[in-house]
Amino acid sequence: MRLIYEQSIPGRRGVKLPASDVPASAPLPENLLRKEPAALAEVSELDLVRHFTNLSRRNFSVDTNFYPLGSCTMKYNAKVLENAASLFAPFHPMTALLPDGEGFCQGTLGMLYDLGQMLADITGMDEVTTQPLAGAHGEMTGILLISAYHRAKGNKKKYVVVPDSSHGTNPASAAIAGYEIITVPSAPYGDMDLELFKKAMTDEVAAVMMTCPNTVGLFNPHIKEIADIAHSHDALMYYDGANLNAIMGKVKPGDVGFDVIHVNLHKTFGTPHGGGGPGSGPVGVKKALIPFLPQPRIVMDDGGQFRLETANPGSIGRTAGFFGNFGVMVKAYAYIIMLGREGLIQASEQAVLNANYIKERLKPYYELPYDTTCMHECVFSASRQLAHGVHAIDIAKYLIDRGYHPPTVYFPLIVKEAIMIEPTETESKATLDAFVEVMIEAAKAAESDPQALHDAPLTMPIGRLDETKAAREQNVCCLG
Ligand SMILES: *Cc1c(COP(=O)(O)O)cnc(C)c1O
Repeated sequence: MRLIYEQSIPGRRGVKLPASDVPASAPLPENLLRKEPAALAEVSELDLVRHFTNLSRRNFSVDTNFYPLGSCTMKYNAKVLENAASLFAPFHPMTALLPDGEGFCQGTLGMLYDLGQMLADITGMDEVTTQPLAGAHGEMTGILLISAYHRAKGNKKKYVVVPDSSHGTNPASAAIAGYEIITVPSAPYGDMDLELFKKAMTDEVAAVMMTCPNTVGLFNPHIKEIADIAHSHDALMYYDGANLNAIMGKVKPGDVGFDVIHVNLHKTFGTPHGGGGPGSGPVGVKKALIPFLPQPRIVMDDGGQFRLETANPGSIGRTAGFFGNFGVMVKAYAYIIMLGREGLIQASEQAVLNANYIKERLKPYYELPYDTTCMHECVFSASRQLAHGVHAIDIAKYLIDRGYHPPTVYFPLIVKEAIMIEPTETESKATLDAFVEVMIEAAKAAESDPQALHDAPLTMPIGRLDETKAAREQNVCCLG
């Protein structure tokens, strides 16, 4: 496909503007003026519409196809959520910060306040900040809160304990916040090895960071015991709640010993994040950590008016411009209101049922490293296919030709040739069945015709890339 610039013909126009009837204002300073006209493409309106419509048809999205990308919760984003977000579009984000601005935006502040309250209820925490801009940003905010808590108590802490089945952002966030990482290996049943965990715990541990369910899709049955041990060393329990889609409405992390949690609004509560953003990673905390929360905090006074509280000496400060990614929060708010308590529980149950259905149907064809009931995603290994020279990446590429976004592959790192499938609750049984058939077809092709898998994809504008080179030399102009 030619770039829009390659379609440019001098003098061709998309729109013809009438002569301006607005009096010219004082000219701009000479040093701010262009030396040459902007090098814009000169095309007709129809050329322009076709160009971008055709490009958009190369997008892969949940709106076009099934997208079972494990760990990402690519659920359908209902259009009514977008409508809700667009209601707020005319609202300027600086309004609340103007003199007496809080009075102008009681509804908006109230929405953020209510969202915080609802998330606190869902997670079992005492207060939530909606500032962080993504899951990993929430983790860093959470660890900074933990660090401020220990500093205020005079605790000398050096380490953060992380199971090897946690998401990679967990140790990364803790390291950026200044801690050294102790990684605890998994036991053969897929959860953190309890005995090795006990050995790792000392009074120098600031926090235990756990992804729940973990990256192999399992919920650790020893949480209570782990939390008790952590607390006996005055270490705090951090819950990576990006995978809340498995448990929302079923378990409140705050009730089982966790002190800090982040959730990914852009996974669990609509707005899947294909394309890299925008995200929102609110952080919930127990009472002891409220004094350190980012500010401004949105508080409600006795008369039911919302205010921005900025004079909080213990606060770790602002962690995002304005109030975070506001549109994502409106969508999450609408999602929660729309589903209600029963609806959220049903969504979790359906997500878990769908993952287990896929797990059971594909088990005869793909190696299942942890053969137990899973949560919202299931993790296979392509190790059987590897015997025929077929890797997880070959199966992923084959799926592209068949109209599916590949599942997450090569993650989690603790599973060789991992294929991580997360169907979400928004897909029908018919969709899951069709996907399963194609996965079975791929498993059979691995035995009978491995070359077909090595050659895929054949239907895309470009075939196999040199993936290292593609990452090092990013040049999208070669898209044929
Ligand atoms: C997606 C994810 C994250 C990171 O969230 P981002 O919004 O991408 O920064 C952290 N932990 C888990 C378990 C995740 O699935």
